[in-house]
Amino acid sequence: MDLKLQDDLKHTDQLLQLTKDFSSKFLSSIDKLAADKQVTINNRLSLPDKGLGGAATLEMFRQQYGNSITAAAGPRYWGFVTGGVTPASLMGDWLTAAMDLNSSDKSSAAFYVETETIALLKELFGLPEAFLGCFTTGATMSNFTGLAVARQWLGQQLGIDVAADGLGALGTLKVLSGTPHSSISKAMSMLGIGRNNLVRIAVPECRESVDIAALETYLQENNGPFIYVANAGTVNTVDFDDIAALVKLRDKYNFWLHVDAAFGGFAACSDQWKHLLNGWEQADSITIDAHKWLNVPYDAAMIFCRHPQLQSMVFQNAGAAYLGDPSTQFNFINYIPENSRRNRALPAWFTLMAYGKEGYRSLVENNITLAKQLGSLLEEDANFVLLSPVRLCVVCFTLNVAVADEAEAVTEYLDLLNASGVVCMTATSYDGRQAIRAALVNWRTSEKDVTMVYHTMSTLAEKIVNKYTYA
Ligand SMILES: *Cc1c(COP(=O)(O)O)cnc(C)c1O
Repeated sequence: MDLKLQDDLKHTDQLLQLTKDFSSKFLSSIDKLAADKQVTINNRLSLPDKGLGGAATLEMFRQQYGNSITAAAGPRYWGFVTGGVTPASLMGDWLTAAMDLNSSDKSSAAFYVETETIALLKELFGLPEAFLGCFTTGATMSNFTGLAVARQWLGQQLGIDVAADGLGALGTLKVLSGTPHSSISKAMSMLGIGRNNLVRIAVPECRESVDIAALETYLQENNGPFIYVANAGTVNTVDFDDIAALVKLRDKYNFWLHVDAAFGGFAACSDQWKHLLNGWEQADSITIDAHKWLNVPYDAAMIFCRHPQLQSMVFQNAGAAYLGDPSTQFNFINYIPENSRRNRALPAWFTLMAYGKEGYRSLVENNITLAKQLGSLLEEDANFVLLSPVRLCVVCFTLNVAVADEAEAVTEYLDLLNASGVVCMTATSYDGRQAIRAALVNWRTSEKDVTMVYHTMSTLAEKIVNKYTYA
């Protein structure tokens, strides 16, 4: 054994303590750390001939990257849709790395942890047993998996086995959706379906949910079968397709119903909001992210699918005798893109057990209340224009400046706002407007944060709006 490795083996306890100290210090200062900053690191390190050992490497990490660490897991990181890390999920994640179990090995506890976690999540979301659930690395991969099985189903309707004979045997297929996330066209590209075969169905004015009548017209006028991607929580305004109506349409016109509920699925945790998902329990496949509103570390998401046989046709490891016979022995590796996998269910298992249904209900409802509070503050402030009612956890707004100045003013404003370090938000365009969105899905976020952010927002808005109004 290499001398440095030998030395680290001898001092494993101390190394873990150093790591724990580093983590504790980071976590205890997360409230004060900038939510966002421009990071550029110029000095590239080269690979040492003789290693430094763990302790000196931690020191080097601190020197090289210490000043560039932001509070992306903190209470005021409201960019994209970014959850944090609950204490229990961190415990689970540390143990995952320490034990390094393979979730795809049926003789390991990890396999049973994943099976159990999926069952717990079905309870949390109120999804029926009929769904097979598997962990993936993120909602993009869950959407990829759902669409891959949908493609197999579509082939089957036409007597073609796409997994065996390839997409060439099938020809062109269309994926329909109202306001799909960008990962849908990415998945279509990866699946050989092609981005240009995404058909955008109309949405009503000032909405991002699909116009059911427009979809029905399309289905009447075109020959299926099709794949339909329902959106259960769009990223700009958290709009939901009417899934119950989609289920009814599916009875009439043959299509696969995939629901992208990456973060909107968490509406199911609240009696007050779960109606937004009515009918989703009848979908063919559902994507839900774990690293967003479940607040576990990256990378974790789930794919729930009602057609395990089709799923295994796509993802099975056929002919690998040492992996067992996929037709008789269930193993996750025959249902998802990845083969060997870390036990990424364990952080979710920890956090679900630690905080339970009540914990997640209050986490989700708290974020929604705070997002609505922020929305009301902006609505009452003449310098802002709220671009959509706050439906759930995202606030989408712009500045009250002349339309001709909007792009420039909003960009300048967002740069200043993020440079303040107080908060991080992301730019977007909505309804042809240059806009900004704030997504509140972090377990730490409190009313104090909303007050602090609004104070910074209004001070900077006054400055920018004045500049453009009286220029
Ligand atoms: C975030 C998101 C995705 C992609 O998720 P990743 O976890 O980043 O892969 C897909 N759909 C929706 C609606 C999302 O919000």
